[in-house]
Amino acid sequence: MESEIRNEAVEPEAEAEKTQDVDRVQVLPLVALRDTVIFPEMIVPLQVGRDRSVKALDRAVRLSSPVALITQRSSETEEVDSVDELYSIGTLAKIAQVIRLQDGTIRAIVQGQKRIRLLDLVQTDPHLEARVEDIDDTHAKSLEVEALMASVQGQIETYVTSGASVPPEVAVAARNISDGGLLADMVAYSPDMSTELRQQLLETIDVAERLRLVSGFLAKQIEVLELKGRIQSEVKSEMDKTQREYILREQLKAIQKELGEDDPAVAEATELREKVEQSAMPDEVKEKALKEVDRLSRIPSASPEQGVIRTYVDWLVSLPWGSYSDDNLDLTDAEKVLNEDHYGLEKPKERIVEYMAVRKLAEKIRSPILLFVGPPGVGKTSLGRSIARAMGRKFVRMSLGGIHDEAEIRGHRRTYIGALPGRVIQSIKTAGSANPVFMLDEIDKVGMDFRGDPSSALLEVLDPEQNFSFQDNYLEVPFDLSKVLFIATANMLDTIPPALRDRMEVIQLPGYTQLEKLRIAQRFLFPKQLEAHGLTEEQLTLEEGALVRLIQAFTKEAGVRNIEREIANIARKVARRVAGDPKVRVTVTAADLEDYLGPARFEYGELDDEDQVGMATGLVVSDAGGDIVQVETTQMEGKDDFILTGQLGDVMKESARAGLSYVRARSRELGIDPTIFEKHTIHIHVPAGATPKDGPSAGVTMATAMASLLTGKPIRRDLAMTGEITLRGRVLPIGGLKSKLLAAHLAGVKTVLIPRRNEKDLVDVPEEVLNQLKIIPVETMDEVLAQALIDHARPATRIKAERAARQKAVVRRARREPVAAKAGGAGRRPATPKPSLPVTPPAPADQPPVPNA
Ligand code: ADP
Repeated sequence: MESEIRNEAVEPEAEAEKTQDVDRVQVLPLVALRDTVIFPEMIVPLQVGRDRSVKALDRAVRLSSPVALITQRSSETEEVDSVDELYSIGTLAKIAQVIRLQDGTIRAIVQGQKRIRLLDLVQTDPHLEARVEDIDDTHAKSLEVEALMASVQGQIETYVTSGASVPPEVAVAARNISDGGLLADMVAYSPDMSTELRQQLLETIDVAERLRLVSGFLAKQIEVLELKGRIQSEVKSEMDKTQREYILREQLKAIQKELGEDDPAVAEATELREKVEQSAMPDEVKEKALKEVDRLSRIPSASPEQGVIRTYVDWLVSLPWGSYSDDNLDLTDAEKVLNEDHYGLEKPKERIVEYMAVRKLAEKIRSPILLFVGPPGVGKTSLGRSIARAMGRKFVRMSLGGIHDEAEIRGHRRTYIGALPGRVIQSIKTAGSANPVFMLDEIDKVGMDFRGDPSSALLEVLDPEQNFSFQDNYLEVPFDLSKVLFIATANMLDTIPPALRDRMEVIQLPGYTQLEKLRIAQRFLFPKQLEAHGLTEEQLTLEEGALVRLIQAFTKEAGVRNIEREIANIARKVARRVAGDPKVRVTVTAADLEDYLGPARFEYGELDDEDQVGMATGLVVSDAGGDIVQVETTQMEGKDDFILTGQLGDVMKESARAGLSYVRARSRELGIDPTIFEKHTIHIHVPAGATPKDGPSAGVTMATAMASLLTGKPIRRDLAMTGEITLRGRVLPIGGLKSKLLAAHLAGVKTVLIPRRNEKDLVDVPEEVLNQLKIIPVETMDEVLAQALIDHARPATRIKAERAARQKAVVRRARREPVAAKAGGAGRRPATPKPSLPVTPPAPADQPPVPNA
């Protein structure tokens, strides 16, 4: 009741305001606030729930009086019963609006008016009522306040723009406030301010002090916001990067899916990885391959590097790592296989079987690399193939002919566009096993130039000290070649780099005799061609006589390749007839050959019919095997000592000069007029057929021809010779004796003069040849002349006539006139070929044939 009375007393506002100046104390209904501080000029909504508070508001509304809003010291306190439970400073507020809610609570909007001090509580029930005293700001106007205000206004601006959760208009509003106290109070709107700080702000009556307080608060807040901003932007940029990649990848996936390319890079990488895992490659290679696969899945599929990596890994996977075929080292078996595939070749076969025997006994022994040397078509390659078959190994062949570039053997580095492994690794891949028989064909034809020396790479391939870890530039990982059985082939020994030759054991395959050729043709080549052309023995018969003629008149070679080709020609033509009529039976005789093969191509046994003066028969070898050459000489008036024409290399010119010097030195003993050398020029012609390489071995022949020419003594027509000559007439040894003797035999020569130091080579010469040749080893030119020259000089008139005829012939041949013209002039045997080998009925094997002519 008391309170009502007092309230009555202050009820009329105007009156109260009037009395304020005088009496600043009044009694008002009081609402205790929890966690909220209301400031003068602040318009805020209040949610009022507590019974006493509702009643206090009701009372104020009824009396149209302001209400005292004072914050509780502790928000925990439910019912305030004493002054101590409230802060001492609060705000006097007008009630602008009251909304009663259904649950009995009230939502009111109040507007703060001014600061008040709580003096005491007049009553607590039914609502709080207090005696309060107005408070005025102190020191509201001073220079300091003005400065502080400017600073705070600036701070507010910064605060707002630094991302505080405050509407930006606040900064504008702050600029327009001219009252320092109000400006400071305005900061209390900041959601970052704690209730305690707000209360402290409310209780600060001194304006300057209040401004300083908010300035401190703002400074701290700005700092916090800036720090927060910095941290956030750091975190954000980190997030941005990964986020971006992630999003792009997802987009890529979506696009690929849309295009029906369900992430091919990944699929491919997975597939490759599986292949690598399953491969038998050594661990370090596997590691490398997997690393590459990882790279593959990381780079974009459009990148050209994808293909490069894929090819590389494919190569690694497809090599036969650790895949070895078991060796069959049964020697009888091996011998059987070798004999099945090849006729003759006793020595090479024997050597191969020995080789296998050694391997069988001592697996680890470093067996030398075999080198088959011989003219084309003598069976070098097919022998290699046979060895592989006999041992049960795979066979690969790599031709070295014309290789100049080391990279062809060892590969290009992967950085090159289109790089691939070298041919060694390629061949190993083709073989599909890590221990094949590996044939290095034409090792004598390896070149060398600015692109590097392939033979040094070859050395590494062949060297057992190194080849267990052969480095291919492309592969980058070593491959073990130590189990590979290397066999090399060559036509000539001279052109093989010495370092390579040293590592190899030479097996010579010099060529076949006529009879050997016949047997090979009958037993191997003909059956092979029959089968190849789908013919049976009944459908095509090739008479022995026909084969002999085919060998002599249609081919000229040390090997049998052309024989095989000509047989194939016949078989093809017969096959055509058989195809038209299966009942056709064909027998080919010697006379039929022209019908199948065209005109005969070679004159064989081309010796002169008569003993000639100034013409000697020499023996030479070329890479097609041995051959005979007829060295012709003639003399004419002139000052030069001699002229050389024909197929001559520098070496042969030296030989000719040495021969001439010998003849001049011995002119007295030989009965030659020494003055003849002063006025006459000797012309020496060596026809095609002798290769320049074989120069030295024609020295004896040229000297003999000159001696014959100058003495007028003819040379025996069925005698041939070979040997190099020194100035003083000593006969030096030569190479290729077997081939030369085979050629001599083939040509129908009866006697051959050979250097004595070559006698030891006769063991290689087939019996049938030795049986039919008279072989005379010689040491000096004197011996040669004693054998070769027929001692009675011809009558001078006849020699003159002959000489004139021969001179014409020599000049003509030197101008390389067609061979066909030969038949008439020089009194030679007409070029009608006739079979000169025994035409035997199913021969008791290898009977000595009847000699030529
Ligand atoms: P190369 O490698 O020496 O040039 P190849 O090995 O190619 O010669 O031989 C040519 C052909 O001659 C092959 O068909 C081969 O079988 C055959 N041949 C060579 N020598 C013999 C032989 N002694 N016995 C049976 N066939 C042979």
